Amino acid sequence: SQALTPDQLKALVRTVPDFPQPGIQFRDITTLIGDGAGLSASVAHLAAMAREAGAQKIAGMEARGFIFGAAVAVQLGVGFVSVRKPGKLPVDVIGIDYDLEYGKDRLEMDPGAVSDGEQVVIVDDLIATGGTALAAVKLLRTAGARVDNALFVIDLPDLGGAERLAAAGVDVAALMD
Ligand code: AMP
Repeated sequence: SQALTPDQLKALVRTVPDFPQPGIQFRDITTLIGDGAGLSASVAHLAAMAREAGAQKIAGMEARGFIFGAAVAVQLGVGFVSVRKPGKLPVDVIGIDYDLEYGKDRLEMDPGAVSDGEQVVIVDDLIATGGTALAAVKLLRTAGARVDNALFVIDLPDLGGAERLAAAGVDVAALMD
């Protein structure tokens, strides 16, 4: 169902000031996914965008990207690629270190999770600086995927993530700013 409008979806996101550190306005999707209509409308909107982008697989980043990404993959009947926090996968992985809005992090994936030339669409809850999504793009491309689109529930446009991804040839779309 796409019964809820983007404005109604936006009203379901909770803003928590000064988390995880002073000065950060944390956009919390707990309240959005806790609402049945909110969750299903978010997934329906993202799935329509992923279908339009020709997704042959969906990739999602641990942990909140798993919630939306796996649901979108089910809607499309395509596979899901999990892009993981370090040390979680039981096989040889490819990995990349990157900078966050607050701190540093690392992502890993199984390089066998995608086929050569497969069109993979990234799904995550939020894009801020784009560092996380760009790291996922690099990993997926190293594994042989084509990555032309990244979809988010929330874009924080002042942080420039969409421009950063555009410079890497990735089109960004989001359900709300
Ligand atoms: P970035 O790599 O800077 O685009 O940050 C994106 C990741 O950090 C996303 O997966 C978000 O879950 C999280 N994040 C960054 N800033 C915020 C924020 N202001 N509110 C909620 N989550 C955030």
